[in-house]
Amino acid sequence: MKQIKVFSPASVSNVCCGFDVLGFSVDGIGDELTISKSKKKKITITKISGFTVPSENNKNTASVAGQALLDHLGINEGFDIEINKKIKPGSGIGSSAASAVGAVFGINKLLGDPLKKEQLIQFAMMGEFVSSQSAPADNVASALHGGLILVNNHQNYEVVNLPAPKNLYAVVHHPLIEIKTSDSRVVLPKNVDLETASNQLSSIGGFIHSLHSLDFLLMKSSLTDHLVEKYRAQYVPAFLEVNDTAMAKGALCCSISGSGPSIFCLIKDSSEAYRIRTEIDKIYSRLGIKFNSYVTSLDAKGVHVI
Ligand code: ADP
Repeated sequence: MKQIKVFSPASVSNVCCGFDVLGFSVDGIGDELTISKSKKKKITITKISGFTVPSENNKNTASVAGQALLDHLGINEGFDIEINKKIKPGSGIGSSAASAVGAVFGINKLLGDPLKKEQLIQFAMMGEFVSSQSAPADNVASALHGGLILVNNHQNYEVVNLPAPKNLYAVVHHPLIEIKTSDSRVVLPKNVDLETASNQLSSIGGFIHSLHSLDFLLMKSSLTDHLVEKYRAQYVPAFLEVNDTAMAKGALCCSISGSGPSIFCLIKDSSEAYRIRTEIDKIYSRLGIKFNSYVTSLDAKGVHVI
């Protein structure tokens, strides 16, 4: 095989009670990468269509991630990468992660799968670090594995695929405004007090239990962020109004994806998800903010060959 085309999905990160550790892939939006073997002995970004991102090898998350994989394997081969960039950078829905994941997944396939999927995360993360020094792995893990994931950022990026209930849906709104992860981390405190940490622990524990027990009341009460939302909310257009509306209409939670500006809600039942999406669409339209919105189940596919 000399050429491969892959789809690498967008993803929601910082899922309410899971700052930096909980994420999920999103159906229907992602980057497409066409990767071909080349004689040049290096990775070259040959074409970028869609949204604009750097094409220099040392600045694009796809080429940096791909090169990290080749260096690890000690392989002196070249690959050309064409990126159809469909996720706007600075979206909060894992634009940089999708390209990095697509590159390592596609190159690994062209090499005959020398590494297992779970071994690829560390190389995709090398790409993510180009976009933000302090990038956590929840977007990369979601794009790679698909579905709802829990990732461990301090020990080899171990990923757990969590059991999402079939009738659990997410609505994602992406206002077409850029917020860079690196800028938005500056507003976060360096330390948290014990009470806050304890509250967060009970939230994440309750949420994980609710996924196994299908206890939606526990899920709703557990889907709370005590760590970051209050610091970032003021930088995310329409967040307070969207949050109020979504919760009043029955969402289980409504929070900021990544560092914003995207906002997501978790909702029980697909018909409710479409209804709440329409209500939030109306808010952005009234405020004159251009946006895209998506409804996704929580078992959307991760990166795959197309
Ligand atoms: P997002 O959450 O949307 O990924 P980030 O702020 O984390 O946003 O990353 C966007 C930054 O990464 C931008 O500065 C962008 O130029 C840079 N970048 C480099 N390569 C890529 C790529 N292939 N896709 C997206 N962003 C990239």
